[in-house]
Amino acid sequence: MFSFTSGWWTLLRAARPARSFSGRTIAVGAIADIKLKRRELVLTFDDGPMPQLTEDILKALDDAGVKATFMMIGAQASAHPALVRAVAEKGHTIGSHTQHHVNLRAVDPISAKAEIDKGRDSVATSLEPTRYRAAPLFRFPYLADTALLRAQLAKGDIVVLDVDISIGDENDLSPHQLYRQAMRRILRRGSGVVLMHDIHARTVAMLPKLLADLRARGFTIAHLVPAAALLAPMSAMSS
Ligand SMILES: [Zn+2]
Repeated sequence: MFSFTSGWWTLLRAARPARSFSGRTIAVGAIADIKLKRRELVLTFDDGPMPQLTEDILKALDDAGVKATFMMIGAQASAHPALVRAVAEKGHTIGSHTQHHVNLRAVDPISAKAEIDKGRDSVATSLEPTRYRAAPLFRFPYLADTALLRAQLAKGDIVVLDVDISIGDENDLSPHQLYRQAMRRILRRGSGVVLMHDIHARTVAMLPKLLADLRARGFTIAHLVPAAALLAPMSAMSS
């Protein structure tokens, strides 16, 4: 009798759906729309796409069943348009990160605007043959913003995607050191937009374990998508 009962109990427990790692979809029309709850993260990957490494990142995200946002460099997108499309086809969101990863604080406002516009155009052009479109999300290289550029972007209905947690994968760490640093920084902050890069082998190497352990700790991964109103014209910055 005891084993009968415990057998049913085991069955019931097994039938209960596992807690989902894939969290909310957040429609973003302004930076203020990104209000994350405790243990809620947004994954972002900057500076790609990069052959092989971006593909490996896509596989890790697929295996974990979560969606991310890729902030692409225009020159990289133009060099690897098929990879831009592969990211879109997997259901991830694509924003831009200038044409050449320029520190926009170090150049004049006209050149800065040209860098931003060119980067957006390159990403958009890579997606043109498909039904996918880039999101009007922008991230400043080196997070080096200016008030003037922020105002210009806002006027053009482009959302600046800021960073709450940088895992620091631009530093020369082993995958294990990077995993520990990333986990420490995420746990300390508790929620937020996480900055990673899809151009480093160490990030690829530790990502599956990072995702598995975040899931085990009860985190969920929110997916940013552009608010419908922002998706209409793509040439917002040019006015
Ligand atoms: Zn960058």
